[in-house]
Amino acid sequence: MRAVGVLALQGDVREHVSALNNLGVSSALVRVPADLVGLEALIMPGGESTAIAHLLKTSGLKDPLANALSDGLFVLATCAGLILMASNVSDGRSDQWSYSALDVSVRRNGYGRQIASFEAPLDVLGVGEVTGVFIRAPRIESVGTDVDVLATHDHGDGAHPVLVRSERIIGCCFHPELTSDTRIHQLFIDMVTSQ
Ligand code: GLN
Repeated sequence: MRAVGVLALQGDVREHVSALNNLGVSSALVRVPADLVGLEALIMPGGESTAIAHLLKTSGLKDPLANALSDGLFVLATCAGLILMASNVSDGRSDQWSYSALDVSVRRNGYGRQIASFEAPLDVLGVGEVTGVFIRAPRIESVGTDVDVLATHDHGDGAHPVLVRSERIIGCCFHPELTSDTRIHQLFIDMVTSQ
């Protein structure tokens, strides 16, 4: 398959590159609009959604990425990346914007602040048990009808989706790049190569 892009403006860039390496998939760092040319798949890493949103504007990537999304770009959106893909964001900054490419409502920092970070075993549909690392994670509060829920987590107040997929986008509240388990990245690669 072609190289998978990794949005390299801020956040867990190296960790995603190394997960792709471990799967034998080459990666291409995306920092300016020209880097998007010819890409069929992109990882939007976790980090800080407001910082990434700001850098998307200053790098000139904001609109070209919107166009690539409407042209069918596949995306693995983790944590802050998920916030940027969501159709609805609550508890965002007053100037928070997102691409509305994935029909989910997320609450920013919905599992609490940095100090409330946690790990939890997750039962992922078609994959099995995966350790979810949640760091100031967004909480998915609702999903649209075209979005499948692949894993949920009950944080003491009922099960909420933590891994979802639409036709071309996988959204993940946790950080699959922070463990040595590459199965979530593999799920994404399978999605790209099977279409
Ligand atoms: N809470 C962060 C944000 O709003 C996301 C945290 C993360 O990516 N680990 O961007």
